[in-house]
Amino acid sequence: MKPETKAELISIGTVDVDSPLLEKITTPTAGPGAGKTALFFKSGGKRVRLTVDEKSPLKAIIDDSKMVIYKNGEEFVSGKFEKELIHCPEQAYITISEKCVYDCKFCPVPKLNGRVKTFDEVLQYIHEAYSTGKMKAISITSGVADTPEKEVDRSVEIVRAIKKYNVPIGVSVYPTTNSTKRLKDAGADEIKYNVETMDRDIYKEVCSGQDLDIILKHLHEAVEIFGRNNVYSNFIIGLGESYETVEKGIEELASMGVIPILRAGVMPSQRVGEIEIERPSAKQLLKLTRVLRRTLDRYGLRADKSRTMCLPCTGCDLNPHKDLD
Ligand code: SF4
Repeated sequence: MKPETKAELISIGTVDVDSPLLEKITTPTAGPGAGKTALFFKSGGKRVRLTVDEKSPLKAIIDDSKMVIYKNGEEFVSGKFEKELIHCPEQAYITISEKCVYDCKFCPVPKLNGRVKTFDEVLQYIHEAYSTGKMKAISITSGVADTPEKEVDRSVEIVRAIKKYNVPIGVSVYPTTNSTKRLKDAGADEIKYNVETMDRDIYKEVCSGQDLDIILKHLHEAVEIFGRNNVYSNFIIGLGESYETVEKGIEELASMGVIPILRAGVMPSQRVGEIEIERPSAKQLLKLTRVLRRTLDRYGLRADKSRTMCLPCTGCDLNPHKDLD
């Protein structure tokens, strides 16, 4: 699959599929895609996650593991249907708390009011994933069910308990005063604190009650503690930010040693009337990912070194060092 084809699939973001397949596919419980059923498609070493939607302009036909995607009635790309382990292929990627007391306008999680998994449940899921022999990494994420401190406490406890599996561990939570050091000491290998946007004005509107500069301060400390190439941050494209803001934001994060993950924004149905999100075009995604690649190269950062969470998965984004030619 060419980078242009993957960019087009990400830009569309949805696919219509035959119904028997629906039993085999995933419903994420965290982040902007939460609550929607999705599947993984792989072609030529590149992977895409597509949300299942009968109104999609893309239609997938699956025969065993072979999958062909049609656009406007013509074959667009062929490859294979990939099974997830937990949330994505090859990883046990677990959301501890599927609810959130914050109210970021791009995110459906606070509206879904999901459940909070117990310590034993999380361990049980991970053990089952390990038993398949396919688990290459464990990733832990969470909404904020009560306070960020409590989520960090729970994450630390889980990381300590899963070190025995001897695979890389990544954690993405809301940062607190000592979360970075505690997670590192517990045994986490990689960490993600999300800026969501680098446009300060938009940040104040969409993440009210939170402070972008505090997140940046934690990211800075995370690079000191976890090291370069081990610290990431999701950066949504489509909240109304300008191209210049994105370029500047990529520069700011990379200069700190943080690898930004450019995530195509999704308009959650639960947020209609609260925010307008415009899904970026394939051309925009390719252009921004090329800027990201050049900037990372200038700072000696590699997006293909990551072993946990979204950069090795690549389902939702163009990884600048894996997906571009
Ligand atoms: S890229 Fe990240 S959010 Fe998307 S499916 Fe993979 S792990 Fe999940």
